[in-house]
Amino acid sequence: MNSPMTGPVETLPAQQDTLADVCTGPRVTIEGGASFVAAGEDSLLRAALRAGIGFPHECSVGGCGACRFELLDGQVEELWHDAPGLGERDRRRGKRLACQSRVIGDCRVKVRCDDIYRPVIRPLRQSATLVHHRLLGADMAELSFETEHAVDFLAGQYALLALPGVRGMRAYSMSNVADGSGLMQFIVRRTPDGIGSGLLVDRLAIGARIGIDAPYGHAYLREDAGRPIVCVAGGSGLAPMLSIARRAAELSMPVDFFFGGRSIGDLCAEPMLATLPGFGERLRLHNVVSGPVDAGWRGATGWVHEEVDRVIGGNAGGREFYFAGPPAMIESLQSLLMLQRQVPFPQLHFDRFV
Ligand SMILES: Cc1cc2nc3c(=O)[nH]c(=O)nc-3n(C[C@H](O)[C@H](O)[C@H](O)COP(=O)(O)OP(=O)(O)OC[C@H]3O[C@@H](n4cnc5c(N)ncnc54)[C@H](O)[C@@H]3O)c2cc1C
Repeated sequence: MNSPMTGPVETLPAQQDTLADVCTGPRVTIEGGASFVAAGEDSLLRAALRAGIGFPHECSVGGCGACRFELLDGQVEELWHDAPGLGERDRRRGKRLACQSRVIGDCRVKVRCDDIYRPVIRPLRQSATLVHHRLLGADMAELSFETEHAVDFLAGQYALLALPGVRGMRAYSMSNVADGSGLMQFIVRRTPDGIGSGLLVDRLAIGARIGIDAPYGHAYLREDAGRPIVCVAGGSGLAPMLSIARRAAELSMPVDFFFGGRSIGDLCAEPMLATLPGFGERLRLHNVVSGPVDAGWRGATGWVHEEVDRVIGGNAGGREFYFAGPPAMIESLQSLLMLQRQVPFPQLHFDRFV
């Protein structure tokens, strides 16, 4: 289904890192650690990652709380006071979210940094133009953007999108593979009353300009792990798993790809995977429907993690797992793989779509 959207071009003043930006601005000093400059409109978290610091984080959009820190002195502006990633107890103890803090003067912060959070590729802000839009069902669309400069990212990583008229940034995973050009593709599912996803799926016009800050995320393909891959996508988690399957196909790595949808109409992965070399042999797709199905449905039903266990079961320990989707799916998979199947944690790579 193609839906080349037309209409007025929406514009957004794009942010671009300049030399002045990276050299000037308030300085953040991590207690007992590094210091860095927080330039322009960057959040404290994005400034730290841009400086190559292993600042703890996961979602980068206020939902998970992984980037909590303590402000020892100095001033930051809180961008989203009610961000769900910070509980009442945290607030009482003076904690803040680095992804929702803008530095407005030199400051000193307390946080435990770790090399596992250090960006493999430093994120870059730039502007991008919507060049293609395709509906993939009732509530999903694939969007292709061309960025001003070439982008680099690893299969499975995500970007932060600054959308015209939308407060705060939105996280979306790339579904393509970086090829040295500026092409970035996303698959977005419209959420009920969702402001960002509603704009992306229904209203953003071809030619519209947005801001893109990328890459982020740790659930990227470990190309040298040497184990067969299991990808598990739930609903809107399709994009990063497609990116991983596409890169794995380039490298001739074996993949079992599980895709869970609520209805048969949600199962849109096959046409995209079927074009990849080795489909049906080295790359096996397992569709799973959790809601009611027609009498003619021959595929699996139930929760996607149950099907993973049916198919992979006792062989789980020898696989590298990647998964993306709603928090409930992530928790079920974690408990299945870590507690029941004893898969070592370093073999699990996931992003919670909070
Ligand atoms: C790492 C990651 C990757 C993701 N990848 C995908 C993907 O590939 N495809 C997909 O469909 N979805 C993805 N999501 C979910 C996506 O980011 C959005 O949460 C979802 O599309 C709903 O956004 P919305 O604007 O439509 O909904 P809304 O309900 O309008 O907004 C929800 C989100 O917007 C942010 N937000 C809301 N209000 C504010 C505010 N005042 N200030 C700052 N931020 C605010 C918060 O992050 C909140 O979770 C991903 C999420 C994460 C964390």
